[in-house]
Amino acid sequence: MNEFTAPQSGPALVDMFSRTISYLRLSLTDRCNLKCMYCVSEDEREGCVAKLGQDELLTYEELLRVVRVAVEMGISKLRLTGGEPLVRKNVLGFIARLAAIPGLDDIRITTNGVLLAGCAQDLYDSGVKKINISLDTLHRERFARITGVDCFDRVWQGIEKALQVGFAPIKLNMVVMRDINDDELVDFARLSQKMPLQVRFIEFMPIGDSSRWNTSTYMSSDEIMARFRDMGELIPLERRQADGPARVFRLGEDAVGTLGFISPISHHFCDKCNRLRLTSEGRLRACLLHDRETDLKAVLRGGCNDADIRATLLEAIANKPKGHQMAERLREEGADCHGRMSRIGG
Ligand code: SAM
Repeated sequence: MNEFTAPQSGPALVDMFSRTISYLRLSLTDRCNLKCMYCVSEDEREGCVAKLGQDELLTYEELLRVVRVAVEMGISKLRLTGGEPLVRKNVLGFIARLAAIPGLDDIRITTNGVLLAGCAQDLYDSGVKKINISLDTLHRERFARITGVDCFDRVWQGIEKALQVGFAPIKLNMVVMRDINDDELVDFARLSQKMPLQVRFIEFMPIGDSSRWNTSTYMSSDEIMARFRDMGELIPLERRQADGPARVFRLGEDAVGTLGFISPISHHFCDKCNRLRLTSEGRLRACLLHDRETDLKAVLRGGCNDADIRATLLEAIANKPKGHQMAERLREEGADCHGRMSRIGG
């Protein structure tokens, strides 16, 4: 079975374009302990942007209820993201309760790794076995410049700990930006030859409040791939469920890990998209790159029953657009792509 085939349990959730929706991404908080230059604005870097209040976030009880209903409807895979999911209080207890939901056996997390070394074993024991860790550079000073915080060593310890504990797969996400970190592409590729990691190169998207994106910082996956031409053969691997939208390769027969290319702009995967997102303030979003959202929090706090939650999930899925026109929009001068990654959940 590949990533995009119908789930094993529950009635399939199918959208207007015959895509089966089986993957829910939860943004647990809009707060983050890093301030990555591609994610937040200069104002936010200076600490001038207000965060959601506690009562604006969905509570764990509300999230558990939504997930239980969604799983009954056919969602089989869940990703916890943010903001930084590990900064939310009592998150491990929440995950343990999620893992007890019947029919939900695939819970993943995307983290910046800052707090990982201290909680990797507990995270694994609570029910998360697959982890994505964001890492845009292998240089300490550059890490501090990109993220606003000097803690590369802590993140690296987190990666080592994740390897020790046995997460599988462990994917490293690098957002590739020309003249900011593209001189490290070869080093990241080498990492995949030496370590049992999937190193993933993500095309920089013009999303969020960052003003860093422009057509020269953006690099397409084809251009990124061309940088590895002299390093050995890029051997394509068969697509597996855990790969998501990445095109995956091994760099030479002897490589221990793999390379993944995520190309939301140059080779978008809209026709196979199986995702639904729930933002940190409780809005359902069927496409990362479309602004349309459905207010689930209002339904949850309006004294709803499970049928109302089901109807709201179905409404959001019915509104899932056929695809995004990011590449086309970018060709138009003044393209404007809304939505902060921290609340939507990247
Ligand atoms: N705090 C967690 C982390 O850093 O992994 C989870 C949230 S973060 C928004 C999720 C992912 O989105 C990260 O891998 C990040 O690199 C990616 N991301 C954020 N802004 C992006 C952008 N403009 N283009 C491409 N990827 C982006």
